[in-house]
Amino acid sequence: MSDRKNENWEQRDLEYIWHPAAQMKDYEELPPMVIARARGAWLYDVHGKKYLDIISSWWCNLFGHCNPEINQAVKEQIDKLEHVIFANFSNEAAIELAEALARIVPKGLKKFHFNDNGSAAVEAALKLCFQYHLQTGHPERQRFMCLSEGYHGETIGALSVGSLDLYARMYQPMMMDNIHVEAPDCFRCPYGKTRENCQCECFCKAEEAFAKHAKETAAIIVEPLLQGSAGMRIYPPLYLQKLRRLCDETGVLLIADEIATGFGRTGRMFACDHAAISPDIMTISKGLTGGYLPMSVTVTTQAIYDAFYADYSEGKAFVHSHTYAGNPLACAAALAVQHIFRTRPIFENAAVNAKWLTQRMTEEILSHSNVGEVRHIGLIHAFELVADKKTKQPFDAKKRLGYEVYRHALAHGLLLRPIGDVLYFNPPLNITQPELDTAIRLARTALDEVLPTA
Ligand SMILES: *Cc1c(COP(=O)(O)O)cnc(C)c1O
Repeated sequence: MSDRKNENWEQRDLEYIWHPAAQMKDYEELPPMVIARARGAWLYDVHGKKYLDIISSWWCNLFGHCNPEINQAVKEQIDKLEHVIFANFSNEAAIELAEALARIVPKGLKKFHFNDNGSAAVEAALKLCFQYHLQTGHPERQRFMCLSEGYHGETIGALSVGSLDLYARMYQPMMMDNIHVEAPDCFRCPYGKTRENCQCECFCKAEEAFAKHAKETAAIIVEPLLQGSAGMRIYPPLYLQKLRRLCDETGVLLIADEIATGFGRTGRMFACDHAAISPDIMTISKGLTGGYLPMSVTVTTQAIYDAFYADYSEGKAFVHSHTYAGNPLACAAALAVQHIFRTRPIFENAAVNAKWLTQRMTEEILSHSNVGEVRHIGLIHAFELVADKKTKQPFDAKKRLGYEVYRHALAHGLLLRPIGDVLYFNPPLNITQPELDTAIRLARTALDEVLPTA
């Protein structure tokens, strides 16, 4: 360790570190919280202050920080094998993990291509779809469709199938020319419906796009049921069922990006399970390793795999690799996650807590005059700040009210990261009711401080 006597961690951080997704100037007013250790849903900083991590550290932590069972699995693995090349070589942890995942993924998904982060899994999925059509007699299918407000990662390909202005607009000249379909917007439904009484009238936008472009389209990529980065926008399973049917009719492949929704976040193992559909390709990451180590998997059907399977000389292989593919430590963590799912009543407990949380947030958060909606799926509960509750008129984004609520919540020891004026809980699946209650209380306090009610 370097000179620990001079322990100004915050200042030393800012000397060299460029943090993700941030205007670094903001750190002048709000320096980084330097975390020394963590347990369960709690983070402890170098000054001993604690924070309740209600966002699962960017949606990846699944069963609490420093979960004893996952810790043990990683410790055992590290003394056996830390890493080995994954081309021509394999390792026990990766094989066992593929077997374990094969038992839980939607029917028809069979082959597991390992990568090391979510964006990389999306890139692999796009390339696989493109090459699949090339090798099955459809070289004209070169374009991709995606939903507006979607988010699929930060690399150029993944960014170009996303359509959040915040992340993508200025890079437009660098990106592929994809077809953006207007996504469902259930909070401000243009058809005047609600999630409970609609027939996904908005699906006509997808039908229009398919009518025009399906023949030149390789695949459509969607975040099933929950557009996370768009502000936890939730739409009905019927939309996915209609999309699956339309893809089947037109030969467009369906990519379900379950990076955020996978592993119980929506109350089922995968969001696709709510709609009882299987995509042609599924991308998973985030919760996969319990939030321990970076890893992702692009899962495909046997049919896609078969289109690449040929004599070497035919040049049909998927020549795509990442150095840390199949990393045994990450696989060991992911295996421990699967073991926890198999041996503990995770879904049962989370369902009870989710129901209770909806009730409590309706009482404590929705009752605030500037909260327009509490929307929820599984344990994920989001609330949107509005200037006018009746008209759902948003606040001026320049006021950065979501960010202000975040800052106030932090001061009270709650990590409640905003997406614009949407704030959300996306806690570990084994969080307790008293912890959730603390989070609600602190969120309401922060809300009242930023937006005092008369
Ligand atoms: C986080 C996320 C990604 C990107 O994953 P990274 O590991 O951050 O590259 C892609 N798609 C969805 C839906 C995500 O939530």
